[in-house]
Amino acid sequence: MDCGHFVQIKDGVSTSSYCNTRVCNVCNRIRTAKAMNGYLSQLKERKWIMVTLTDVNCEASQLRNELKGLKKSFFLIRRTLKKKGYDPDGIVKAEITYNEARDDYHPHLHVLIACGEQVEYVAGLIVDLWLERRPSASIKAQNISLANQDSLNELFKYTTKTFSRKGKELYTNPEAIDAIMRAQYNTRSFQPFGRIKKVTEEVDEIVEAQPIRAEEGIYMWVREDWYNLVTGEALTNYTPDPEVKILAHERSRPDPTT
Ligand SMILES: [Zn+2]
Repeated sequence: MDCGHFVQIKDGVSTSSYCNTRVCNVCNRIRTAKAMNGYLSQLKERKWIMVTLTDVNCEASQLRNELKGLKKSFFLIRRTLKKKGYDPDGIVKAEITYNEARDDYHPHLHVLIACGEQVEYVAGLIVDLWLERRPSASIKAQNISLANQDSLNELFKYTTKTFSRKGKELYTNPEAIDAIMRAQYNTRSFQPFGRIKKVTEEVDEIVEAQPIRAEEGIYMWVREDWYNLVTGEALTNYTPDPEVKILAHERSRPDPTT
């Protein structure tokens, strides 16, 4: 809630301090930019395939273990591939989505791989090995597609879906967000393998942002903008849509009369 609460403008650049938590969309935008800069430059001019690996949904209490299990399965598959003589380069991203209607969670892996001319065959082999290792996984829920710029941009996004939108109303479900955050606490979202180098997922406490044209001074966040502590001037002059409402998801409680 307090990420980037104060902004200092000095010598034409803004500086702020960041919380580095996964639930923060300010920090997630910085992470996304870092991941795109760091990974996209390593992916040039090769044929990349995206494999999505899933298993059955689970409850909040099993989420952390399930996510760990999916990562372990993929680690063992890579070992099998090596034994068979395939050593692809790639990145595996662990994601969790929440299913509102069923009130359960969907942990899954997106695997980006390159393996020269054999990449299609290796992608198919990964899915076969996945189904072998995970008898509860359905073949229909796995996916193989050619990676393009859009799917790569999507892959490198760090998002915590804190709202679902229905027209002008935004619904938030704090319990679901909490369950996802607990499951991902102290784990990496991206694990590169082969010859792809790791890019940090940490957001430095203090970051200098882009050059900015504003009066020098310290600005403090109040509701929807930062205000200069001395002059009271707004920094961005952003005005949110007054019709947008944010509503918390109400968990259905058992009826006390029954
Ligand atoms: Zn933050």
